[in-house]
Amino acid sequence: MDSLDPDAREIATAALADGGALVVLTGAGISAESGVPTFRGPEGYWTIGSRHYHPQELATAAAFRRMPREIWRWYLTRRAICRAATPNAGHLALAAVEPALPGRFTLVTQNVDGLHRRAGSSSADTLQIHGNIDEARCTNGCSADRFPVPAGFDAFGRDDALDDDDFARLACPSCGAPARPHVLWFDETYDEAHYRAESAMARAAEAALLIVVGTAGATNLPMQIGHRVLRSGAPILDVNLEDNPFAALAVRSGGRALRGSAATVLPALLGALVGGQDSHSAPTSC
Ligand SMILES: [Zn+2]
Repeated sequence: MDSLDPDAREIATAALADGGALVVLTGAGISAESGVPTFRGPEGYWTIGSRHYHPQELATAAAFRRMPREIWRWYLTRRAICRAATPNAGHLALAAVEPALPGRFTLVTQNVDGLHRRAGSSSADTLQIHGNIDEARCTNGCSADRFPVPAGFDAFGRDDALDDDDFARLACPSCGAPARPHVLWFDETYDEAHYRAESAMARAAEAALLIVVGTAGATNLPMQIGHRVLRSGAPILDVNLEDNPFAALAVRSGGRALRGSAATVLPALLGALVGGQDSHSAPTSC
């Protein structure tokens, strides 16, 4: 097995040598390595009565208004799958590098599965731009804002019913209004209050290095982050098993596209940044 592309290591080390900030953007690929499906594929399909729903039809505010109980059942089922997964070496490497770069590290994640937080990444520097499936929030916009999904739903399965008592327990603990999953839906837009979108762009503007991990660039804020970093002249490293739009940005930025898994590339790359010795992985650059 080859070691980590020495150019990538050199680019990363040089970029951060003068106290610059590191921004890491993660997507579904890093969670797939922990066994979390994207839910945009067959795992996300859902049957209500005799109708089969595509995930893009369910993950909307409109669907929630129409059938909140069914949408909660779908999210509780997805959440149980996420909770059964465990963080992998990629998540752990990101959690380990954060304290080594105090005030200079931001993790922007598209993943709602909470695996970064469970791996130990901090609340302050982990911007969950699509929300977190472990949290709910008041549909009435009261002061309660976000709160954890109540206990008792951790093993919720596809065939489980949500009776009146269960559904009542999902209400806002402060005002009693219905609560909703704290996730960004397809018919909604990014904002700062719930999804830290402005913070993510501000941190990108100041980045000395951007590492993109396991994302296909399907949503617009991640691509804006990539283009913002490119404009400011900082290098981009793209870690992905497959080609994707960030690979081209990485090459244009003077960075590298590293073809490998997050669980092998990140420990090697980030270990080098904090002076660790981990360097036994097998990506190749292109
Ligand atoms: Zn409330």
